[in-house]
Amino acid sequence: MFNLILFGPPGSGKGTQSENILKAYKLVHISTGDLLRDEVGRGTPLGKEAKKYMDQGFLVPDEVVIGMISSKIDERPDARGFIFDGFPRTKAQAEALDKLLEFKNTQIHLVLSLEVPEAELITRLVKRGETSGRSDDNEEVITKRIKEYYAKTEAVAGHYDAQGKLERMKGDNSIEDTFRQLTKEIDKYLLPA
Ligand code: ADP
Repeated sequence: MFNLILFGPPGSGKGTQSENILKAYKLVHISTGDLLRDEVGRGTPLGKEAKKYMDQGFLVPDEVVIGMISSKIDERPDARGFIFDGFPRTKAQAEALDKLLEFKNTQIHLVLSLEVPEAELITRLVKRGETSGRSDDNEEVITKRIKEYYAKTEAVAGHYDAQGKLERMKGDNSIEDTFRQLTKEIDKYLLPA
Protein backbone atom coordinates (compact mmCIF):
# COMPACT_ATOMS: atom_id res chain seq x y z
CA MET A 1 0.00 0.00 0.00
CA PHE A 2 1.13 3.55 -0.77
CA ASN A 3 -0.37 6.54 1.05
CA LEU A 4 0.14 10.09 -0.09
CA ILE A 5 -0.83 13.45 1.36
CA LEU A 6 -1.24 16.31 -1.07
CA PHE A 7 -0.62 19.39 1.00
CA GLY A 8 -0.89 23.14 0.46
CA PRO A 9 -2.99 26.24 1.11
CA PRO A 10 -6.53 26.72 -0.24
CA GLY A 11 -6.29 27.29 -3.99
CA SER A 12 -2.89 25.62 -4.36
CA GLY A 13 -4.28 23.05 -6.81
CA LYS A 14 -4.69 20.02 -4.56
CA GLY A 15 -8.08 19.07 -6.03
CA THR A 16 -6.91 19.31 -9.65
CA GLN A 17 -3.68 17.40 -9.07
CA SER A 18 -5.41 14.76 -6.92
CA GLU A 19 -7.66 13.95 -9.88
CA ASN A 20 -4.64 13.52 -12.15
CA ILE A 21 -2.70 11.44 -9.63
CA LEU A 22 -5.52 9.10 -8.68
CA LYS A 23 -6.19 8.36 -12.35
CA ALA A 24 -2.54 7.63 -13.12
CA TYR A 25 -1.78 5.54 -10.03
CA LYS A 26 -5.26 4.12 -9.25
CA LEU A 27 -5.34 5.44 -5.71
CA VAL A 28 -8.47 6.08 -3.68
CA HIS A 29 -9.14 9.79 -3.20
CA ILE A 30 -10.17 11.11 0.21
CA SER A 31 -10.99 14.83 0.20
CA THR A 32 -12.37 16.12 3.49
CA GLY A 33 -13.67 19.24 1.70
CA ASP A 34 -15.72 17.09 -0.72
CA LEU A 35 -16.92 14.78 2.07
CA LEU A 36 -18.00 17.74 4.19
CA ARG A 37 -19.77 19.46 1.26
CA ASP A 38 -21.61 16.21 0.61
CA GLU A 39 -22.78 16.09 4.24
CA VAL A 40 -23.86 19.74 4.02
CA GLY A 41 -25.71 19.08 0.75
CA ARG A 42 -27.60 16.17 2.25
CA GLY A 43 -28.45 18.22 5.34
CA THR A 44 -27.17 15.57 7.78
CA PRO A 45 -26.56 16.50 11.45
CA LEU A 46 -22.80 16.40 10.75
CA GLY A 47 -23.31 18.64 7.71
CA LYS A 48 -25.36 21.17 9.68
CA GLU A 49 -22.66 21.37 12.33
CA ALA A 50 -19.83 21.63 9.75
CA LYS A 51 -21.55 24.35 7.70
CA LYS A 52 -21.35 26.82 10.60
CA TYR A 53 -17.56 26.66 10.46
CA MET A 54 -17.09 26.31 6.72
CA ASP A 55 -19.16 29.38 5.81
CA GLN A 56 -16.95 31.49 8.06
CA GLY A 57 -13.68 30.11 6.73
CA PHE A 58 -12.85 28.25 9.96
CA LEU A 59 -11.72 24.66 10.23
CA VAL A 60 -14.34 22.12 11.28
CA PRO A 61 -13.51 20.57 14.72
CA ASP A 62 -10.92 17.77 14.60
CA GLU A 63 -13.15 15.04 16.08
CA VAL A 64 -15.78 15.53 13.36
CA VAL A 65 -13.26 15.21 10.54
CA ILE A 66 -11.23 12.35 12.06
CA GLY A 67 -14.32 10.15 12.53
CA MET A 68 -15.30 10.74 8.92
CA ILE A 69 -11.85 9.71 7.63
CA SER A 70 -11.68 6.53 9.66
CA SER A 71 -14.90 5.15 8.17
CA LYS A 72 -13.81 6.12 4.63
CA ILE A 73 -10.56 4.15 4.98
CA ASP A 74 -12.48 1.13 6.29
CA GLU A 75 -14.79 1.22 3.26
CA ARG A 76 -11.88 0.41 0.91
CA PRO A 77 -9.80 -2.50 2.26
CA ASP A 78 -8.92 -3.37 -1.37
CA ALA A 79 -7.26 0.02 -2.08
CA ARG A 80 -3.83 0.21 -3.72
CA GLY A 81 -3.34 3.26 -1.55
CA PHE A 82 -4.98 6.52 -0.54
CA ILE A 83 -4.45 10.10 -1.55
CA PHE A 84 -5.42 12.50 1.22
CA ASP A 85 -6.45 15.93 -0.04
CA GLY A 86 -7.21 18.68 2.48
CA PHE A 87 -6.44 16.34 5.35
CA PRO A 88 -4.73 16.43 7.83
CA ARG A 89 -5.20 20.13 8.43
CA THR A 90 -4.04 20.35 12.05
CA LYS A 91 -1.26 18.70 14.02
CA ALA A 92 -3.91 16.78 16.01
CA GLN A 93 -5.37 15.43 12.75
CA ALA A 94 -1.89 14.38 11.57
CA GLU A 95 -1.25 12.53 14.83
CA ALA A 96 -4.67 10.85 14.62
CA LEU A 97 -4.04 9.81 11.01
CA ASP A 98 -0.63 8.35 11.87
CA LYS A 99 -2.24 6.26 14.65
CA LEU A 100 -5.11 5.15 12.44
CA LEU A 101 -2.76 3.96 9.70
CA GLU A 102 -0.41 2.30 12.17
CA PHE A 103 -3.39 0.35 13.50
CA LYS A 104 -3.99 -0.85 9.93
CA ASN A 105 -0.31 -1.80 9.60
CA THR A 106 0.46 0.94 7.12
CA GLN A 107 1.67 4.57 7.15
CA ILE A 108 1.97 7.83 5.22
CA HIS A 109 4.81 7.39 2.75
CA LEU A 110 5.06 10.82 1.16
CA VAL A 111 3.76 14.37 1.68
CA LEU A 112 3.88 16.61 -1.39
CA SER A 113 3.47 20.28 -0.55
CA LEU A 114 2.36 22.72 -3.27
CA GLU A 115 3.78 26.18 -2.69
CA VAL A 116 1.94 29.13 -4.26
CA PRO A 117 2.29 32.86 -3.44
CA GLU A 118 -0.66 34.30 -1.48
CA ALA A 119 -1.71 36.86 -4.13
CA GLU A 120 -2.00 34.06 -6.72
CA LEU A 121 -4.09 31.97 -4.29
CA ILE A 122 -6.60 34.78 -3.83
CA THR A 123 -6.83 35.40 -7.60
CA ARG A 124 -7.47 31.69 -8.25
CA LEU A 125 -10.09 31.30 -5.53
CA VAL A 126 -12.02 34.45 -6.45
CA LYS A 127 -12.09 33.20 -10.05
CA ARG A 128 -13.26 29.73 -8.93
CA GLY A 129 -16.02 31.43 -6.91
CA GLU A 130 -17.52 32.83 -10.13
CA THR A 131 -18.54 29.30 -11.17
CA SER A 132 -18.12 26.92 -8.19
CA GLY A 133 -21.27 27.92 -6.36
CA ARG A 134 -19.28 27.39 -3.15
CA SER A 135 -20.46 29.67 -0.36
CA ASP A 136 -16.88 29.99 0.95
CA ASP A 137 -15.33 31.22 -2.32
CA ASN A 138 -15.77 34.96 -1.77
CA GLU A 139 -12.93 37.33 -0.97
CA GLU A 140 -13.83 37.85 2.70
CA VAL A 141 -14.05 34.12 3.53
CA ILE A 142 -11.05 33.28 1.30
CA THR A 143 -8.85 35.64 3.33
CA LYS A 144 -10.01 33.93 6.52
CA ARG A 145 -9.34 30.45 5.10
CA ILE A 146 -5.80 31.43 4.16
CA LYS A 147 -5.32 32.84 7.70
CA GLU A 148 -6.53 29.53 9.20
CA TYR A 149 -4.05 27.74 6.94
CA TYR A 150 -1.07 29.70 8.26
CA ALA A 151 -2.34 29.59 11.88
CA LYS A 152 -3.21 25.89 12.13
CA THR A 153 -2.38 23.90 9.01
CA GLU A 154 1.15 24.90 8.08
CA ALA A 155 2.39 23.04 11.21
CA VAL A 156 1.38 19.77 9.53
CA ALA A 157 4.30 20.25 7.11
CA GLY A 158 6.70 20.39 10.06
CA HIS A 159 5.17 17.23 11.53
CA TYR A 160 5.99 15.23 8.39
CA ASP A 161 9.27 17.03 7.71
CA ALA A 162 10.47 15.70 11.07
CA GLN A 163 9.66 12.19 9.77
CA GLY A 164 11.64 12.88 6.57
CA LYS A 165 8.52 12.55 4.40
CA LEU A 166 8.00 16.12 3.16
CA GLU A 167 8.77 17.33 -0.38
CA ARG A 168 8.03 20.97 -1.23
CA MET A 169 7.40 22.00 -4.81
CA LYS A 170 6.36 25.05 -6.83
CA GLY A 171 2.60 25.05 -7.39
CA ASP A 172 2.36 28.02 -9.74
CA ASN A 173 3.76 26.47 -12.91
CA SER A 174 1.27 25.07 -15.45
CA ILE A 175 -1.01 22.20 -14.38
CA GLU A 176 0.96 19.83 -16.64
CA ASP A 177 4.39 20.92 -15.36
CA THR A 178 3.26 20.63 -11.76
CA PHE A 179 1.85 17.17 -12.43
CA ARG A 180 5.19 16.09 -13.95
CA GLN A 181 7.04 17.32 -10.85
CA LEU A 182 4.64 15.43 -8.59
CA THR A 183 4.92 12.18 -10.55
CA LYS A 184 8.71 12.35 -10.37
CA GLU A 185 8.46 12.09 -6.59
CA ILE A 186 5.65 9.49 -6.53
CA ASP A 187 7.48 7.22 -9.01
CA LYS A 188 10.17 6.69 -6.39
CA TYR A 189 7.58 4.72 -4.41
CA LEU A 190 4.97 3.50 -6.85
CA LEU A 191 4.75 3.26 -10.62
CA PRO A 192 1.61 4.26 -12.57
CA ALA A 193 -0.95 1.46 -12.79
P1 ADP B 1 -9.82 24.48 0.17
O1 ADP B 1 -10.24 24.94 -1.18
O2 ADP B 1 -9.70 25.59 1.18
O3 ADP B 1 -8.65 23.55 0.16
P2 ADP B 1 -11.63 22.37 1.00
O4 ADP B 1 -12.59 22.14 -0.08
O5 ADP B 1 -10.59 21.36 1.27
O6 ADP B 1 -11.05 23.79 0.79
O7 ADP B 1 -12.41 22.63 2.39
C1 ADP B 1 -13.39 23.64 2.53
C2 ADP B 1 -13.70 23.87 4.02
O8 ADP B 1 -14.06 22.62 4.65
C3 ADP B 1 -12.54 24.38 4.86
O9 ADP B 1 -12.42 25.78 4.83
C4 ADP B 1 -12.92 23.87 6.27
O10 ADP B 1 -13.91 24.65 6.87
C5 ADP B 1 -13.54 22.52 5.98
N1 ADP B 1 -12.52 21.43 6.03
C6 ADP B 1 -12.08 20.68 4.98
N2 ADP B 1 -11.17 19.77 5.39
C7 ADP B 1 -11.03 19.96 6.72
C8 ADP B 1 -10.24 19.34 7.74
N3 ADP B 1 -9.37 18.34 7.46
N4 ADP B 1 -10.35 19.80 9.02
C9 ADP B 1 -11.18 20.77 9.33
N5 ADP B 1 -11.96 21.41 8.43
C10 ADP B 1 -11.89 21.02 7.14
